[in-house]
Amino acid sequence: MSTDQHIVIIGAGAVGAATAVQALNAGLRVTLIEPDSPGGPQASSYGNAGWLSSHSVLPPASPGVWKNLPRWLKDPLGPLAIRWNYLPRAIPWLVRYLASAWTWPRVEHTAHALRSLLAGAPALHQALAAQAGVPHLIEQRGLLHAYLSEQHFRADSRAWEIRRNEGIQWEELDNDALHALEPDLHPRYTFGVLVPETGHCRNPGAYVAALVQLAQSLGADLRRTRATGFDIRAGKLRAVHTLDGDIPCDKAVIATGMRSRELARQAGDRVPLAAERGYHAVITQPEGAPRVSTMLADCRVVVNNMETGLRVAGQVEIADIDAAPNWQRAHILRDLLVSIYPALPAKPAEDRVDYWQGSRPSMPDGLPCIGPASASKDIVHAYGHGHVGLVGSARTGELVVQLLQNHSPTISLEPFSPRRFA
Ligand SMILES: Cc1cc2nc3c(=O)[nH]c(=O)nc-3n(C[C@H](O)[C@H](O)[C@H](O)COP(=O)(O)OP(=O)(O)OC[C@H]3O[C@@H](n4cnc5c(N)ncnc54)[C@H](O)[C@@H]3O)c2cc1C
Repeated sequence: MSTDQHIVIIGAGAVGAATAVQALNAGLRVTLIEPDSPGGPQASSYGNAGWLSSHSVLPPASPGVWKNLPRWLKDPLGPLAIRWNYLPRAIPWLVRYLASAWTWPRVEHTAHALRSLLAGAPALHQALAAQAGVPHLIEQRGLLHAYLSEQHFRADSRAWEIRRNEGIQWEELDNDALHALEPDLHPRYTFGVLVPETGHCRNPGAYVAALVQLAQSLGADLRRTRATGFDIRAGKLRAVHTLDGDIPCDKAVIATGMRSRELARQAGDRVPLAAERGYHAVITQPEGAPRVSTMLADCRVVVNNMETGLRVAGQVEIADIDAAPNWQRAHILRDLLVSIYPALPAKPAEDRVDYWQGSRPSMPDGLPCIGPASASKDIVHAYGHGHVGLVGSARTGELVVQLLQNHSPTISLEPFSPRRFA
């Protein structure tokens, strides 16, 4: 395929931006459609925890997790909560979410598929960041899981065994080794697991913005509008409809994250995509911080020392995408952060703390949708990455470009079929 083939990429989050750069590198002509600032706070790619966790292969659900449902419904501030008024709409998604991880073999199936997507991701991001002139935004120092005790780590052994079967290696750190690595960490954490192959991004919003700037410098046309649908005739894509008129094109990519459901439907596929809402809190100029990005296993939050300050991110809230944020959840994250790194002030001045709420674009089985659309193979789905959309964006872009060029994808896309729940 040559540059006379015109590709419209809809959405300039991490997935759309990485896809655009790789399409241009492959010699394709690209128009990017994005109504807001690329990498801006409307995008999940802006406020995430920045983990480039190629070992994050386990789906969010696990066998027996259904026993927690009553707690999730009762506690609106728990690490996972479901808003009552949204429950009737959430039930079909929740049923699939629980079913897809009902047994360990199902979890292993998901882990194997996710590993094929995520393996080697930090190096792919390093290459993209270097090309975009922001190599400092991607670091590969490994990621740490901090546990209260070795016993707590052993209680997670099934999950780690699945990771080991996927070729993931780690180092176990006793109390002394953990605190030698992380002197600012609260002493209640006495056991650590360091996964050296992984990396982190020091400013995901700026990284996405830099990729879009790179795409523009390589010739991409950035249109500040919203895509609304497709002109498809006899299976051939003619144009993408936008609020500002049609953009004629040969092929299109749906990379609109959590907002992809309607465009997917117009492309012939009904996908059970839901918003798994999350929050972050950032404390600027922190007095204490981790050397290595850290997941605190007891409270299921991730802490990452970013260009903009010390960010703690997490929480899962199943609610309407556009429901008002519950900022109490972000305040909980702030309070957790100061308890994890005691050098931070117990009550940081509010002008030092920044809060954000966003939504993970989540499929119930924890796998994204990557593949051609039913109504026209000229349209490619590329969304639904849930908890791993930043780390997964680089390989996704590569796979999408292979599809756009009618090449065989380098990994099997069967587990990522947009039709797997049909
Ligand atoms: C609290 C939290 C922590 C997270 N931590 C991590 C992490 O550490 N590591 C990781 O890998 N992932 C993490 N994630 C998940 C990750 O952020 C997402 O999976 C990823 O950002 C999704 O990227 P995307 O490009 O698909 O969507 P988005 O980043 O949401 O981008 C979609 C873009 O499409 C645009 N758009 C929407 N509708 C239209 C339209 N009709 N026309 C044109 N454009 C449109 C939007 O404006 C937006 O800019 C986290 C998420 C949250 C909420």
